[in-house]
Amino acid sequence: MGFFENFYPDEYVRSTYEIDFESLYKQGYRGVIFDVDNTLVPHDAPADDRAKALFKRLHDIGFKALLLSNNKEPRVKHFAEDVKYASYIFKANKPSRSGYFAAMKKMGTTSGTTLFVGDQIFTDVWGAHRAGIRNILVHPINPKEEIQIVLKRRLEAIVLKRYFSHNSK
Ligand SMILES: [Mg+2]
Repeated sequence: MGFFENFYPDEYVRSTYEIDFESLYKQGYRGVIFDVDNTLVPHDAPADDRAKALFKRLHDIGFKALLLSNNKEPRVKHFAEDVKYASYIFKANKPSRSGYFAAMKKMGTTSGTTLFVGDQIFTDVWGAHRAGIRNILVHPINPKEEIQIVLKRRLEAIVLKRYFSHNSK
């Protein structure tokens, strides 16, 4: 396995809101771990109606949901309260695997029945990959990002270019 493959997502979609969770449930998945910022809403934005509807829908399908964020507790706690139907872990220290394992323990799921959805390759996808969890990379919602994230995006672009050429072979 090459160096770049460590960072390849299992899937790439334009938006969290395009994911077919109904069919993923039928495939046997029971828990979904979400990154928050730029995955569900723009960075530091409150939960909007679209996010609230998604968590209600997941609950109705039968999924457990959990917010796994490197952000601070007030941010993640308020978001969880707003969307309901989701527990949370803050300062998760992604790409460390510990937060992903804690998330599965909270949801009562395993690496075989859990999905991860996030917008960053070097934190979200890499951590899920290391924890053995199927991961879906989404296009970040907000184009206005802090400089350290902009620099990471440039590195991500290198990985994604290889990923797409790898997938098209
Ligand atoms: Mg994010």
